Amino acid sequence: MKLIFEKSASGRKCSILPKCDVETVELPKELRREVKPALPEMSETDISRHYTELNHRVHGVNCGFYPLGSCTMKYNPRIDEEMAALPGFTAIHPLAPKHTTEGCREVLDTIRKYLCEVTGMADMTFQPSAGAHGEFTGVLLIKQYHDSRGDTKRKKIIVPDSAHGTNPATAAMCGYDVVNIASAPNGCVDLEALKAVLGDDTAGLMLTNPNTVGIFDENILEITRLVHEAGGLCYYDGANLNAVMGVVRPGDMGFDCIHMNLHKTFATPHGGGGPGAGAVGCKDFLAKFLPHSAMMEGEGHIQVRGFAGNFLVVVKALTYIMTLGREGIPEAAKNAVLNANYLMRRIQGTFEPAFDRICMHEFVLDLSGFKKETGVTALDVAKSLIDYGMHPPTMYFPMIVHEALMLEPTETESKDTLDWAAEVYRKLYELGHTDPEYMHGAPHNAQIGRPDEVKAARNPIVRYTRA
Ligand SMILES: *Cc1c(COP(=O)(O)O)cnc(C)c1O
Repeated sequence: MKLIFEKSASGRKCSILPKCDVETVELPKELRREVKPALPEMSETDISRHYTELNHRVHGVNCGFYPLGSCTMKYNPRIDEEMAALPGFTAIHPLAPKHTTEGCREVLDTIRKYLCEVTGMADMTFQPSAGAHGEFTGVLLIKQYHDSRGDTKRKKIIVPDSAHGTNPATAAMCGYDVVNIASAPNGCVDLEALKAVLGDDTAGLMLTNPNTVGIFDENILEITRLVHEAGGLCYYDGANLNAVMGVVRPGDMGFDCIHMNLHKTFATPHGGGGPGAGAVGCKDFLAKFLPHSAMMEGEGHIQVRGFAGNFLVVVKALTYIMTLGREGIPEAAKNAVLNANYLMRRIQGTFEPAFDRICMHEFVLDLSGFKKETGVTALDVAKSLIDYGMHPPTMYFPMIVHEALMLEPTETESKDTLDWAAEVYRKLYELGHTDPEYMHGAPHNAQIGRPDEVKAARNPIVRYTRA
């Protein structure tokens, strides 16, 4: 496909500006360009075709099944976008006089109330713009708490090895020593390992729950009790709240603060690095440390972003919550869990789950046995799925499972889609045994085959230089 610059033809244009009806003013010479900007010149038809062609080359939730584990690529209802596009929300200025932004403040107040109820927390900030940013904010709350009590010997944050990779990174960014603990064979936190590292130097524990193998920790109450007994605080990574929202509350499980990715669970599309929101909630005793936006009252000690964060993401989340309502939120969670378990069991017998137990919103397949038998890797399977018009699942994550494929079908997929997906997986299992070579070469029908992923990540060419 040609780049838009290569399609450009001198003199073509698609907009005709209205005749100027005010007096023209010449800009001083030093403010003017000497060379015309090198913008593509195209007709409206050509531009429209260009972007439609690009659109067809991309796989998104609107094109087909996209079961990316840990990332919750779920369908986001159109109405959420419509609400976020209302001029009353898009055309405000963060420094606008208070009496003109009452509606926006009501949005923040309302969603704060709802999400505090969903999580069992007392207060919440919407400043952080991503999950990792929320974690950073949450762990700073923990730090400020200990500091405010003069308890400065607490230097360690405990992070189980089934945590999301951002958890240890966050703890380190906040200046803590990260203490890793191994999981028990059943995928949960090993209580003995936890007890062994707890002490008066423990600042807190960060727990991803359900964890990155899709398991809800069955000892969760005991875990938070042990950490509190040692004087530490408990942080809940609720980036994906899909399995538990409206069903159980992290606050009731003993957690002191939490972040949620509104761009995973609460209906903002993500994946292209677009705007997100990592709302951070906390219990009453931490609330005085929360950062608050200039629009809101409050005397936060820290600021992690300007103003109210990515406000329009918050508008989408509120719309999502209000359209689903008190019955719909837990129903979405239960369907997410049901779909994941259904798909896992339909695939089982060919590719095997890493943990043969009920999962939450996602599950992990362990292909190490399959690889030993056939030489076909998890990467080969992932690439082969592309030929079927299905987005590959998350690969080689979590790292505690070798040859891992991690699937999260999400709540909105129909039984037909899940049956089809399971059938494709079963076919690929057969194909691995009969024609492994073919799978090593997959995908065979995609726009691009196997790019050099390291090079693509390290040396991306994202800028066009005119010849
Ligand atoms: C996605 C995710 C994060 C990080 O969120 P970002 O918005 O990508 O920074 C943290 N924890 C878990 C469990 C996640 O799934």
